[in-house]
Amino acid sequence: NYHQRMKVTGHNEISHLSESFNQMSERIETMEKLRNEFVSSASHELKTPLASMKILVESIIHQGITDPEMVKEFLGDVDLEIDRLNNIINDLLTLVQVDKQSLVLHKSAFPMQELIIRTMKVLNPIAEQKKIQLAFDIREGVYVDGDMAKLQQVLMNLVDNALKYTPEGGQVVVTLLRKDNYARILVADTGIGIPEADLPHIFERFYRVDKARSRSTGGTGLGLAIVRQIVEMHDGTITVSSKEGEGSLITVDLPSVEPPEKLQQEEVQP
Ligand code: ADP
Repeated sequence: NYHQRMKVTGHNEISHLSESFNQMSERIETMEKLRNEFVSSASHELKTPLASMKILVESIIHQGITDPEMVKEFLGDVDLEIDRLNNIINDLLTLVQVDKQSLVLHKSAFPMQELIIRTMKVLNPIAEQKKIQLAFDIREGVYVDGDMAKLQQVLMNLVDNALKYTPEGGQVVVTLLRKDNYARILVADTGIGIPEADLPHIFERFYRVDKARSRSTGGTGLGLAIVRQIVEMHDGTITVSSKEGEGSLITVDLPSVEPPEKLQQEEVQP
């Protein structure tokens, strides 16, 4: 009963309880702060394309622009801003899903090399258009137990970045190898690279090395944050190394599994 409980709750226990309580409220405060920062960054990101659209539309209205060609050009720019808004909102929705852990992984064991080859085929036209040589180097086939669609999103994002931040005539290579019990995927480019001071931050939400440049390439600054979340949901790791003016290297390690046939054979054997 209450009195008995009061007796056993000695001074030490009370100070222990109050300490945990303080830690808990500090944690809640930090979470609240992070959430507020997220909401204000997100709002800021959404306001930028809106502001551009407002200027474009107002100049048509107030400057009495009637030349159909010019109106068409302005509307084309508005259309691009709408695309950008859509990209940001899609990325935000994915991020929130991953955050809530409500993103259900549809896992199956699959050969990573197949996913790489498939993704490269999708991205090849972009590389050709930018005159960048896109190649893959499958050193060893490795099976991974994961969500193929989500992991394809990871690859697409990484190779897309590599292509985005590499000038014409450059090279992007995706390598697959086995490293201990991991499938190691390397995405290397000969692009502009990332300054050393920015390296620790590039997986943060909304972080961009060069805001203007990233915006002009349609970046939201959310791609790598999403990529890291997906990789971590698969118990994997992602790291970056880079040298300004020389290129970047992203390394993704995902736990490997035995090929399904082998598993079955082992199960059948007595
Ligand atoms: P964004 O949508 O702006 O590309 P990301 O989250 O994908 O956002 O990347 C964050 C930032 O990291 C980018 O704005 C860019 O400055 C830098 N970055 C990412 N990948 C590369 C790369 N391969 N080469 C150079 N910079 C890169």
